[in-house]
Amino acid sequence: MTGTRSFDAAVAFHGHRCPGLALGYRAADVGLEVLDANPSDDEEVVAVVENDACGVDGIQVRTGCTFGKGNLRFLDHDKHVYTFYNRATGRGVRVVSRPDFSTVRFDPGFGALRERVQGGTASPEERDMYDRRLRAVCDAILGAPADDLFVVTPLEAPLPEAAQIHRSVVCDACGESVSEHRVVERDGRRLCIPCAGR
Ligand SMILES: [Zn+2]
Ligand SMILES: [Zn+2]
Repeated sequence: MTGTRSFDAAVAFHGHRCPGLALGYRAADVGLEVLDANPSDDEEVVAVVENDACGVDGIQVRTGCTFGKGNLRFLDHDKHVYTFYNRATGRGVRVVSRPDFSTVRFDPGFGALRERVQGGTASPEERDMYDRRLRAVCDAILGAPADDLFVVTPLEAPLPEAAQIHRSVVCDACGESVSEHRVVERDGRRLCIPCAGR
């Protein structure tokens, strides 16, 4: 795939090429294929991500889902689990990284080489080699059969309801405006979350 949804576009958006980015990008590929969804139709696809690591940038570029559009949702579970919904059909699919996934499958020495490069102890030759092997590992992930990377489960349940539009109120401590559903009541004062935590 070329253009604004390509993996190269994801690398540019993310700032570097890495296996995590490739895995997220591939998860989105798999999800869209199962849902028969077309990400060029804005906001038709919704992605729910359960981590905030490299892979999510691949998902944003591949699906077009973003926080600003309201079709990217974050659950702070720190799990490599991605759920995609197609609003047009009401179908969903859960894409879970296989627990035994490792770059070792594609390049047994890659992890050790990466440690030397990132630790600053690699020779110039090793750094050159790393770039080539990094590219090869990412390409292998992008080309791997879905079942080698993920457990893919179509869902029956529809998309959970999106958050409603909430009125904003002014925090009694800092004077900044905050959405009503995030206000904490304390001793008769209405506080934003950071102020309530002090
Ligand atoms: Zn990364
Ligand atoms: Zn406040």
